[in-house]
Amino acid sequence: MNVHIYRGQNQIGGSIIEVSTETTRILLDVGLELDNEKNRELPKIEGLFDSPTVEAVFISHYHGDHLGLAYYIDKRIPLYIGKASYKIVKAADDYKNTETISPAGFIYHNHPITIGDITVTAFLCDHSAFDSYMILCESGGERILYTGDFRSNGRKPFGWLLSQLPHKVDKLICEGTTLTRDSYDPVTESELEEAAVKEFRSTDGPIFVMQSSTNIDRIVTMYRAAKLSGRVFLEELYMAEITSAIGGSIPNPAFSDVYAFITNGRRYETLTKYKNRISKEHIGATRFVMCVRSSMLKYIKSLAELMPFEKGLLVYSMWGGYKMQPEMKAFLDECKRLGLRIVDLHTSGHADPDTIKRVIEWTNPKEIIPIHTENPAWFSKTDLI
Ligand SMILES: [Zn+2]
Repeated sequence: MNVHIYRGQNQIGGSIIEVSTETTRILLDVGLELDNEKNRELPKIEGLFDSPTVEAVFISHYHGDHLGLAYYIDKRIPLYIGKASYKIVKAADDYKNTETISPAGFIYHNHPITIGDITVTAFLCDHSAFDSYMILCESGGERILYTGDFRSNGRKPFGWLLSQLPHKVDKLICEGTTLTRDSYDPVTESELEEAAVKEFRSTDGPIFVMQSSTNIDRIVTMYRAAKLSGRVFLEELYMAEITSAIGGSIPNPAFSDVYAFITNGRRYETLTKYKNRISKEHIGATRFVMCVRSSMLKYIKSLAELMPFEKGLLVYSMWGGYKMQPEMKAFLDECKRLGLRIVDLHTSGHADPDTIKRVIEWTNPKEIIPIHTENPAWFSKTDLI
């Protein structure tokens, strides 16, 4: 099998990987570049956007830098993604009233799918996107494993994932997002929960959490911390639609202590489907942890007129780089001005160097192909293989 990296070898984001044999050609991830404002042109990939010759596209997880181009590919090419991932993508697109993707099928943990002479098997891994997978391609006795994005500091036991992976692969296409950092001590999601409980319990006023609405693990962490601190958990409609699309054990307004709310009256009709919904006036009289987004600044200011913010807290639970974005900066500045104490509580969705080494040791690759990294040279260190 041949591997061709169209994009992502020397950069974080926009990953596009082709795996091919003499007769079959598939793609693993078709991502948009993270800074896609700069580059809105579709990459030149034969048979992907028209006159299809690519036989299938597999998506490791729903982050835009892995999925984003799936909206533009020729609809005749079968697209595969995790089922829960699809539900999240669809809920988000429906909320925004934009066209969504149409998968031909779903990938499940350890359920092989055959495309031509390539067998594709997905392995559920932990990442800041729910329902993320590593992807193994096998053909003619040869094995190529693509790690997608993964980490060992989430709630899924990493040893279990390793035990599912083959002990010997020919090529390992491995992510290396964290390899540019000098030192990296990954806090676990459980440690983050403990830290959040401590902060929440020592706060008398309102508590807000700035976090991604699609980072389901983090929603679980903050929900548990809210519960342990005797506070209800408030999800704005966008997040409520996403968590409800997955349902089950994921904190959503079907839980007795989770409530949906809106920041825009035009969404009221959608809100009414939730029995657990709460108005701004009632929020003012409740002890809560509210998940917020930077686009909610106007709403937060109006809440500040209903309750004192001086003893309140804003937990910033996202990648620090987003603080540079103008909308985020304005949001954080205003929260500070309103009297909220701002605390950073975040941990990465990506593997630390030791975790990457464990995957390399376990899968024993003949060749490593770095991806999703700005430091591919790290993988050339001779002691890795
Ligand atoms: Zn990702």
